Amino acid sequence: MPCYRCATRQTDPGKGPSDWKRGVRDGVQVLVCPDCQRLHDWQADLDACAECGSSSLVRQLGETRCRACGSTVAEVGGAPPVDEALASDVSAALDRRFRSYPDSQVP
Ligand SMILES: [Zn+2]
Ligand SMILES: [Zn+2]
Repeated sequence: MPCYRCATRQTDPGKGPSDWKRGVRDGVQVLVCPDCQRLHDWQADLDACAECGSSSLVRQLGETRCRACGSTVAEVGGAPPVDEALASDVSAALDRRFRSYPDSQVP
């Protein structure tokens, strides 16, 4: 995957940790090359966590998760409208899920 700004490709991607940063921009996982990290306020371009403001987000299994606080970030642009009954079903399911993962609870 190339840098989202300058399209430079990562060299030696198999060589373990690099200076490239990962982030999520408009709901899409992106990479930022070291040059763009130096020359540009790249974190301002990335999606930020609604809970803690961190841009350390990662795309996983179709959702965006904050690596700083562990919360899941709502999709930018919003989900298609759903009726009230379905929406309350979904929030009940989310409640159950968060209860079973105490680490992701927001104080
Ligand atoms: Zn770049
Ligand atoms: Zn967060």
